[in-house]
Amino acid sequence: MLDSKFEAALPILEKIETAGYQAFFVGGSVRNHILNIPITDVDIATSAQPSAIQEIFPKVIPVGIEHGTVIVRHNHESFEVTTFRSEGSYSDNRHPDQVIFITDLNLDLSRRDFTMNAIAMDRSGDLFDPFNGKNDIRNKKIRTVGNPNDRFMEDALRIIRAFRFVSQLGFSIERDTLAAMGTSMELIETLAVERLANEIEKLFKGDYLTDAIFLCSKLNLWSNLPVFSKIDDVSSLLLNVHTPLNGLHEVFAYINIKIPAIEIKDIVKEWKQSNQTFHATKHLVESVELFTTYGLTPWLIYQLPDELYDSFIRLVKIDSGEEINKNQLQKMAKELPIQNKKMIAFSGNDLIKIYPDRLKGPWLKEYLDEIEYAIVTKKLTNNYNDIKEWVQTCHPPENA
Ligand code: ATP
Ligand code: MG
Repeated sequence: MLDSKFEAALPILEKIETAGYQAFFVGGSVRNHILNIPITDVDIATSAQPSAIQEIFPKVIPVGIEHGTVIVRHNHESFEVTTFRSEGSYSDNRHPDQVIFITDLNLDLSRRDFTMNAIAMDRSGDLFDPFNGKNDIRNKKIRTVGNPNDRFMEDALRIIRAFRFVSQLGFSIERDTLAAMGTSMELIETLAVERLANEIEKLFKGDYLTDAIFLCSKLNLWSNLPVFSKIDDVSSLLLNVHTPLNGLHEVFAYINIKIPAIEIKDIVKEWKQSNQTFHATKHLVESVELFTTYGLTPWLIYQLPDELYDSFIRLVKIDSGEEINKNQLQKMAKELPIQNKKMIAFSGNDLIKIYPDRLKGPWLKEYLDEIEYAIVTKKLTNNYNDIKEWVQTCHPPENA
């Protein structure tokens, strides 16, 4: 019985075959199917060239057409379809000098990173496993397809992928592959940081993160990674990280909480991450710091976006061992007098009416911030007249 994700992709394989080409499931989906664990995405490999795929299917998005990859849309779902290819030489340790489209499945499988990822499955569930990947899966072994030194020299990302799979699958690394990882480690510095970030994020999400961290420290991966290379003792830094971290913002926040001298903006810049990651990281760090000093206050909860609750709970647990209950957070958030600035029953214009002689300037925002804080902390009720009175009697703005 095939996983429903494979079932959904079967019509794609059938259509490609009807047009006279070969098509197989490949990659992580086949590996996870053999392991009997959930499949993330179904990748399809085919002997048809991208132009043929574009003729067969009405909706095709040419995401990486020069490497032979297109996305086929079918029943509102996306499927990555990649033409069998072999890769020419790699003069820069990361990009093949040329991609050659081929029609031989075995050759396509031979360019893949690990034996467990080099298995194809046809639509009746039969496996094509020229490198004995199934056996390695059974023995929980990560082994490169072919000579590991050559394979890491071609593309050093495979070294990081090996650590990532240790973390996701709890496998160990076959002896020669491990030895080659040790000697090829410096090639990591040649990689584009975006590719690295993608794998490192998955590494920190893995269920077997503790094993992976131990191995990364043993092989000294950290000294070849942005930011981590500046930290004296990464293994002690990560000693308490026993639960998976769900996203780079959590990893970055943890680093900044433990080592404030490494600033968030520099971490995000070195890892070339987005502004959104910067803000999420900042929110998390500020919230954990507030928690450490004052405990779970209404102001903390007011500032923390609810999509960061899980991250916050995890980081507090790792940082101080304290368990915060998500229901309690949600309950406290519901009971806040206001949920956001827009709910304040007083505006900048109301302030100007009270102080008509003052020039507009930053004082307005600062004053509104104070009103917001007073409302959230229940020193002031969110009611126009109360706020007006508070402004007029108790609290003239500085230099008014
Ligand atoms: P996941 O389940 O996380 O998607 P995956 O093994 O499918 O894991 P992908 O990054 O989706 O990982 O890659 C799909 C397949 O492409 C891999 O299984 C592997 O066969 C091949 N592959 C990916 N990256 C490389 C690489 N750097 N070198 C060689 N083969 C690779
Ligand atoms: Mg995949």
